[in-house]
Formats: sequence, C-alpha cells, structure tokens
Amino acid sequence: MSGIRPTGFLHLGNYFGALRNYIRMQDEYECFFMVADLHSLTTHPDTKELKSNVQHVLSENIACGLDPDKVALYCQSHIYETSELYLYLNMLAYKGELEKTTTFKDKVRSQPENVNAGLLTYPVLQTADILLHRASLVPVGKDQEQHLEMSRTFTKRFNHRYGNVFPEPKAFNYGSELVRVPALDGSGKMSKSENQFATLYLSDDDELIRKKVIKAKTDTGPLAPGSSKPEAIGNIFLLLKLVSDPSVINKFETDYNNGSIRYGDMKKQLAEDMIKFITPIRQKAEAIRNDENYLKKVMEKGAEKARKSAKATMELVRQAMGLNY
Ligand code: AMP
Repeated sequence: MSGIRPTGFLHLGNYFGALRNYIRMQDEYECFFMVADLHSLTTHPDTKELKSNVQHVLSENIACGLDPDKVALYCQSHIYETSELYLYLNMLAYKGELEKTTTFKDKVRSQPENVNAGLLTYPVLQTADILLHRASLVPVGKDQEQHLEMSRTFTKRFNHRYGNVFPEPKAFNYGSELVRVPALDGSGKMSKSENQFATLYLSDDDELIRKKVIKAKTDTGPLAPGSSKPEAIGNIFLLLKLVSDPSVINKFETDYNNGSIRYGDMKKQLAEDMIKFITPIRQKAEAIRNDENYLKKVMEKGAEKARKSAKATMELVRQAMGLNY
C-alpha cells in the first residue's frame, strides 16, 4: 500500500522512490495505490485545481506502468472508512511525538501561517491508509522513513491495547536501501512543489529537460585524480545511474578517476538519457489525461476494491475496540 499526493506533477523522485517499486509489486502482491488528496489539504487547502491534479497524477501513474486491472488504484477521499480509522488512531498518538516529526517541523517553518492540526497528525492519517488494508509493505522513498517508523509505533500501540489486528508495516524498496533522488542544484531532494527548476518532472518537454540538466550544479573542474566526489558531482553520477547505460557510467567514472572528466559533456549525456526515459511516459500520460471517462472508471473500480478491503478491516477494528454494541 502506498500513495502520492496530488500537489503537483510527478517527478523523478516519485518515480524512482515509489512508482518503480509499485510497478514491480503489482505482479507479486495484492496492491493498493492511491492518490492522497486528503493529505494534500494539509498544505494546499484551495481545491480549485484539485480535480485536474488528481487526474494528472492518476494518468502519470498509469503511464508509468501501473495496471488498474491488477491493483486497486483509487482516490483517498473516496474511502470514507479512512476517516473513521484516523479518528481512532488519533487517540493513540501523542502530541509530543507528533511535534517532533521532521516533516512537521519543516512545515512549521515553511508555512507558519497555516500550522493546522491535519499537518500535525499527517503520519496518523498515513497510518490509517496503510492499516485500512492491513498492509505490511509500504513502498516509499527515503524521505518517508520516519513516518513509517511512526506508523509502526501506532500499530504496536493499537495491537497492544485492543488485540492483534494489524501486521506491522515496513517501508519497502526492491533495492538494498530506500531511495532519495537529489535536486539538480544540490539543495536537497527533488520535490513536487518546491525548487521546480532543480526537479525533473515526468511532464517536462525535451528542451526544458536540457535546460535544467545543463544548469545542474557542478564545481569548477575535476579534482586531483582519485579524490572522492564532492556532493554535487556525486548527485550527477547518481542521476546518471538511474537512466544511463552501464557503459556510459563506466566511461565517466574512468574519466573522473583519471582527472580528465568534462562536466559539460557528462551533463549533455545525462540530459539526452533523461529525455529518452521521460518522453515516452510524458506522451502516454498526455493521451490518458485527455480521456476523462476512462479515468473516472479507473477511480470507481479502484474505490470498489479498496472499499471492500476497508469495510472488512473496520469490522475487525470495531470488534477489537468493543465498539460493536
Ligand atoms: P509525495 O510527493 O511527498 O506525495 O511522495 C510520494 C512518494 O514519492 C513517496 O513514497 C516519497 O517517498 C517519494 N518521493 C518523493 N520525493 C522523492 C525523492 N526526491 N526521492 C525519492 N523518493 C521521493
């Protein structure tokens, strides 16, 4: 089970942190993937653009390879049971631990005019989404590690107090560790709504990709042969590893190690490989996005599957909590 907020267009971080795992998991597990529209209200209370943003994220999910026949692909707000479970879990989450969450502290700094209770209990809502399907594997990027720790804490607390209803959820990734795709300007991670020129979106056209990649931060020139890579250079190599051929990566590694690397050439190559990766997804997503009827049917079908699982879980929850009189 996992979700992506409709707060902007999907980017490489969403793809390599989350979607790439979803696509592989759909053939191996029973999967629930949602557009987290309720979560987006904690930072984006204006709902004028929400419908088209939901459609955008949904079409990008499908264009990347998610098959709505194989998984439950749905919209969070269509499953009312989420709100009920969120309420119960809120009674098991303490103000002190929620206030210590890194993402909450970041948001307090970035939107001091709107420090709402939903923002504080964001990890509780996320736990409700996961537990609603009694899911054990949650494919997410590295930025979600702390939230998943909290989900495990709330789950243990529920099970301890009311009986063993839920498996303990774990952050999941097919590789050896969770992924963090860095921003092109070396200032943090790629993100939907911040730092847009340093993020590569799945909807960027070829020219924009070239412009962004060429501007990516590098230092003035190669260091002495054999020295370790500065962070900005390490980031470019990391991005290269996501989309380029091993022979290309080897060439630039060798050039780096013997001090002959030309960062301009490396970025040009990276831009072309990014274009090869992003263009087919962008084109597919555009075609899907124009078919509103199809997207509506996908959401209805996904909600039907998710509701069935949510209803069964909530029967167990109410019974375990003694709320069945
Ligand atoms: P969000 O965009 O915050 O709704 O996150 C959706 C999914 O994408 C989550 O699983 C995040 O962990 C993942 N994600 C977002 N940004 C990145 C990034 N820069 N690197 C890796 N994963 C990311």
